[in-house]
Amino acid sequence: VFNFSPGPATLPEAVLRQAADEMLDWRGSGMSVMEMSHRGKEFMGIHAETEATLRELLAIPANYKVLFLQGGAIAENAIVPMNLIGRTGKADYVVTGDWSVRSLTEARTYGRVAVAASSEATGFTSIPPRDTWTLDPQASYVHICSNETIGGVQYHGTPDTGGVPLVADMSSDILSRPIDVSRYGLIYAGAQKNMGPSGVTIVIVRDDLLGHALPITPSAFNYQLQAEADSMLNTPPTYAIYIAGLVYKHVRSLGGMAAMEEHNKAKARLLYDFLDQSSYFQNRVAPADRSLMNVPFHLKDPALDGVFLDGARARGLIQLKGHRIVGGMRASIYNAMSLEGVRALVAYMQDFEREHG
Ligand code: PLP
Repeated sequence: VFNFSPGPATLPEAVLRQAADEMLDWRGSGMSVMEMSHRGKEFMGIHAETEATLRELLAIPANYKVLFLQGGAIAENAIVPMNLIGRTGKADYVVTGDWSVRSLTEARTYGRVAVAASSEATGFTSIPPRDTWTLDPQASYVHICSNETIGGVQYHGTPDTGGVPLVADMSSDILSRPIDVSRYGLIYAGAQKNMGPSGVTIVIVRDDLLGHALPITPSAFNYQLQAEADSMLNTPPTYAIYIAGLVYKHVRSLGGMAAMEEHNKAKARLLYDFLDQSSYFQNRVAPADRSLMNVPFHLKDPALDGVFLDGARARGLIQLKGHRIVGGMRASIYNAMSLEGVRALVAYMQDFEREHG
């Protein structure tokens, strides 16, 4: 089966096999990782190795903290402003789709929040060009969503924010390509697309941004307190951290970020090239801003959506239904999706077009 779920998403088979092998007895400890104290030497070792591998993969500079928290990216929509907006009371948001709308809406509770740019007028099918953004040099930070999972719109390049810290929701494209962490003030991501199961949220934050939390910030959501406690102020999501660590090591064994980018570009090219020559299927995103991770597409005759999904399932191509906001289909092709999986999808779409086009 090829699983095109937008998340929680397919995981590398090698990782699942290793987790299954270690499920009942982790390396002779007599315990499952689920049964270990987070303060015991076994789990502390897993946690430290997981962080070290992530630091190595993304070349995270030493002046950045890496936190493994609970709550997911939706919780971060509140936790980020609670921790960062206090410096000046203001923040700028760039709105490129449904996820950044949610980030913006949530942040309004915590300070003066402005829309620096928006692609809403064109149906969120592009990234507003950088020279159209209105940035406030006094903003505590500028927030973007690097990959809009629902709309299939992605930044290809890191915007220059003129010294104002850049905050990115990278939930659906972290670990998919090399990034220069030093260009960001803070990066956050839920794990359940490219990194592991749901339950753990990664926060990578430059240490000079800590220390401005609003007084209302719960201690479990205070980055500084969590950094001081090595992300163990509350019980961390231990099993999700363990699986994320296996995924990181797996990605490293495949060649790291440069190899992931090449693999992801090859898959996306195959699918978009097919869509662009098809007279039956269509992707509506501006070509320069198309996501390498999430590819929404529409059938010429939406009445056949159900027929398409049934036929896909019969061929082992699952979880292709588009998000209800956008409709149609969506193929999520994260790191763990193989080129073979995308080839199988394109072959099915060719056959479907021949029959119904
Ligand atoms: N942000 C982006 C870009 C996402 O893709 C998602 C999940 O699909 C979220 C935020 C929300 O994540 P969670 O439900 O884990 O809080």
